[in-house]
Amino acid sequence: MTARFNSTTRFAPAPTGGLHLGHLANAIYVWGLARRLDGRVLLRIEDHDRQRCRPEFEAALLDDMDRLGLAADAPATDELRAGPSSFRQSDNDAVYSAALDRVAQATDVYACDCSRATFGAWREANGRPWSGPGCPGRCLDRGLDPRSALTLRAALGAGDEAWDDLLLGARSAPVASDGDLPVRDRNGNWTYAFCVVVDDMRHGVGLVVRGEDLTDATPSQIRLARLLGRAEPAQFAHHPLVRRPDGSKLSKADGATSIDELLESGRSAEQLFGEVVRRVGLDAADEPLSFDEATALVG
Ligand SMILES: [Zn+2]
Repeated sequence: MTARFNSTTRFAPAPTGGLHLGHLANAIYVWGLARRLDGRVLLRIEDHDRQRCRPEFEAALLDDMDRLGLAADAPATDELRAGPSSFRQSDNDAVYSAALDRVAQATDVYACDCSRATFGAWREANGRPWSGPGCPGRCLDRGLDPRSALTLRAALGAGDEAWDDLLLGARSAPVASDGDLPVRDRNGNWTYAFCVVVDDMRHGVGLVVRGEDLTDATPSQIRLARLLGRAEPAQFAHHPLVRRPDGSKLSKADGATSIDELLESGRSAEQLFGEVVRRVGLDAADEPLSFDEATALVG
């Protein structure tokens, strides 16, 4: 695999807790692809959700990264510990406000009061889930006050976006599979999708490496980036997730996946890298591996 594009990528945990096994899988793919493609790894703290993210969780995950030897090319963990940073979303509110202004110049941005119940009622009445642009309450036409405690959506249009996924191959999917893209939630938080598109542009990220549970989020992010003036879309690589033995998705409730607890219980970092590599299918053997050995299996 050779890089024919900007292969700067990023490791971007949300501080809603310390690192867990899912983060390790992502780190192996992020650093693995960056090394294979001669790219760089940026570290970004994705704390756009102010209700769920806490400074003590950020402190824990930075400590976990240091203990595991996950060193980004920029910024150093100590730089984030020292204070405000362009790599921490909560320090950059003005950046997202300015980006929202740019989106609003290019397309409709509108307040939406649809709840889960609104989507549920529409499904009930029509025998299928809401899909396509807009929202079931036709909020674009209603002109609700955008300063109110409502979701803000950006109208990104209809149709599909295609991309050549480095791990999944050629993909194409609808931009508005479940309505126009929310850019700010009813609690006033910028959304994940909005922040990552803005951040990847301003940080010069050309390669997005993330779990395959985010595959469906890709078309709207490609469209939003284009709307914001991104000439070349980012490349994407969606990797397998660490799952429970029964195949279901891991969640925060799986306490046994916390890196801190696993290390405290006597497991070594090498044992954890070996386990993750086996559980995402990179290697069948369950043997201890250094981080370098684990990342060398990607590609
Ligand atoms: Zn609505």
